[in-house]
Amino acid sequence: MNKNYIVPNEWSIIEEVFDAENVKASESLFSIGNGSMGQRANFEEDYSGETLQGSYIGGVYYPDKTRVGWWKNGYPEYFAKVLNAPNWIGIHIQINSTNLDLNLCKVSNFRRELNMKEGWLSRSFNATLQTGEEIRVEAKRLISIELNEVGAIEYSVKAINFSGEITFSPYLDAGIVNEDSNYNEFFWKTLQLIESENKGCIYAKTLKTEFHVATAMKVSFLLNNEAIAIPQETKKEEKTLIYTYKIKVLEGDTATIYKYGSYVSSLNYKNEELVEASFNNVQKANEIGFEGLLKLQRQSWDKIWETSDIVIEGDIKAQQGIRFNIFQLNQTYLGTDARLNIGPKGFTGEKYGGSTYWDTEAYCIPFYMGTKNSDVAKNLLLYRYNQLDKAIENAAKLGFKNGAALYPMVTMNGEECHNEWEITFEEIHRNGAMLYAIYNYVNYTQNFEYVPKYGLEVMIAIARFWYQRANFSENKNKYVILGVTGPNEYENNINNNFYTNYLAKWCIEYTVECLNKVQRNYPEDFERIIEKTNLNKEETLEWLKVAGNMYFPFSEKHNVYLQQDGFLDKELIPVSELPKSERPINQKWSWDRILRSCYIKQADVLQGMYLFEDKFSKEELERHFDFYEPLTVHESSLSPCVHSILAASIDRMPKAYEQYVRTSRLDLDDYNHEVDEGCHITSMAGTWMSIVQGFGGMRVCEHGNLSFNPQIPEQWKSYSFTINFRNQTLKIQVNQSETTFELDGSKDLQIQVNNKTITATPNNLVKTS
Ligand code: BGC
Repeated sequence: MNKNYIVPNEWSIIEEVFDAENVKASESLFSIGNGSMGQRANFEEDYSGETLQGSYIGGVYYPDKTRVGWWKNGYPEYFAKVLNAPNWIGIHIQINSTNLDLNLCKVSNFRRELNMKEGWLSRSFNATLQTGEEIRVEAKRLISIELNEVGAIEYSVKAINFSGEITFSPYLDAGIVNEDSNYNEFFWKTLQLIESENKGCIYAKTLKTEFHVATAMKVSFLLNNEAIAIPQETKKEEKTLIYTYKIKVLEGDTATIYKYGSYVSSLNYKNEELVEASFNNVQKANEIGFEGLLKLQRQSWDKIWETSDIVIEGDIKAQQGIRFNIFQLNQTYLGTDARLNIGPKGFTGEKYGGSTYWDTEAYCIPFYMGTKNSDVAKNLLLYRYNQLDKAIENAAKLGFKNGAALYPMVTMNGEECHNEWEITFEEIHRNGAMLYAIYNYVNYTQNFEYVPKYGLEVMIAIARFWYQRANFSENKNKYVILGVTGPNEYENNINNNFYTNYLAKWCIEYTVECLNKVQRNYPEDFERIIEKTNLNKEETLEWLKVAGNMYFPFSEKHNVYLQQDGFLDKELIPVSELPKSERPINQKWSWDRILRSCYIKQADVLQGMYLFEDKFSKEELERHFDFYEPLTVHESSLSPCVHSILAASIDRMPKAYEQYVRTSRLDLDDYNHEVDEGCHITSMAGTWMSIVQGFGGMRVCEHGNLSFNPQIPEQWKSYSFTINFRNQTLKIQVNQSETTFELDGSKDLQIQVNNKTITATPNNLVKTS
């Protein structure tokens, strides 16, 4: 059963009942972040129930020694994890010396809200302690976009039925472990606890990677809205710095603490500057004040929403779903730092190590291209360009030669971290996504310059990989690619995965096309690249032989490409016949049973048809959709969005809508029963695509113009989205009967709408019916 406790609301994620069963799920859903740091929605006060504490700093990671049952040659030594950082949010609360712990008291009037319009999280509740005192707590928290190393908390306690003492003990704690640590090691070494009046800092470093981090706090107090100064007691433990403040209250009084926190790291400062920089940050935050920070936060989010909001009228759950997805993506990555990337769980959990996957290239690039300045997508491409040498080293370790590159399945700094042979060595389709992202970017921006400057080197190295990875089959008289895992990870070590073979062929052909173009139009760059890569004409002709004679498994009977050799030997029983009690199969079935079954974890052949839709006729898309969709269990978050887009392309709007709801509310309704581990951030970009590319039918045509084929689910009155296209902003509003286009920019834009050309002129509404 999916969860169903989030209150539908257009702009907020709301929870109205305290239920210990949902605490971990809510910690993920209500996470906050600013692209540089993030925080699960853990309570500030103590909580003895089940919880996953999580505070994260972008780019600060730990290489956790690999743990596997049977070591295979070629496995990486470590798995890089975005590690849990020192806790800056904690405040122990005591009421007349009894600890506040929601797991131990009676809780009523509980409400939690993640306000996505303005970028803050609030929580309020009444709690009756074991000793009888009742309090009302109102807490608010934000992680500032403007001051991107700062977080702030406002926490008020009202004495409802007693007079006595409220004790606030704000603390910093570096005694933090990752739940997913392989050998229960500590990842942090505390170097120094530094304290001064109302301000404290823990200076610590990560072991092995030697990132130095200063975590600071500063606090201030109000009693019944009047500022008060209270004597501070200080306690220093080995890894914890605790300040204690006691406030005498009368029945009805409200005591409020403001806690400002900051992380600064050696990624951005010299080690010797860190402590001071963290103190400056909390000092500045304190001067601006909580209300001031909230105001700045509102302004920052207004700017983000201006170019990325999608408005849906007539379906509040769909509206909440898309905004949640857009909000979380922006909390994870804002594109200002080419050293950072988008982990599948962002800053909302530990699973997947917080590293970079093919998800970025296949899913996130279109979102960031469409909603932000093109530099953001370029930064994502440069991240991989900067890691090309490591990808070449990675391929060399596996026996490839001559500058062939295999980009890692999972990485933090370019080195492979993944350690399951069927994925590390076999899920090589990821290499194709790197190249597809370049193609996508060039197509969308029409800025080919990226290719001669950076992209072509990556492309050559990838083409070399595919050339070497394929082998000629005498039997088939074709080139084959053996021993792979396609996007559908419920099949391993298969031969001739259609998706992988298709991408391999395309990568080679596109690389040669770009090489020719660079030779013609950028001769200097061509010379430089040829010299650097030692490439010659004969080599490219060899590549083309492989590409031109690639094998694709095909069934004459079904008239479809087969996911892999032998797929038809399976029992093809549709998912609809699987009992609910056996879903998700990855939690209910043994692995061998999954491998033998026909069930598809995520779009595979259909992933290829999505990426290369223009190469297939509508009838072909329909046939493949009808063959594969009934066998797909969508147990990867990356799946329903692709099915939604394809369903819309072939005019199956009810199916497109069903899959849209699934992708957009995957975490809010916990379809895959794992949201407690963190949200699925990268697939959220797919949700955006299912509206823009799916319902809106947006494509970039070969000559670089935008085309739309707008449709609307019958459940909706209207929807609108905004596209950043070559430095102009285009707003598209789709109603049941007409579509309007509004261009904010300086140049006219030719747009294809349902195969007719219209001209959008700046600041003029163009309507089509
Ligand atoms: C999917 C992969 C994906 C990874 C991270 C897995 O479940 O099968 O395709 O890269 O999650 O999102």
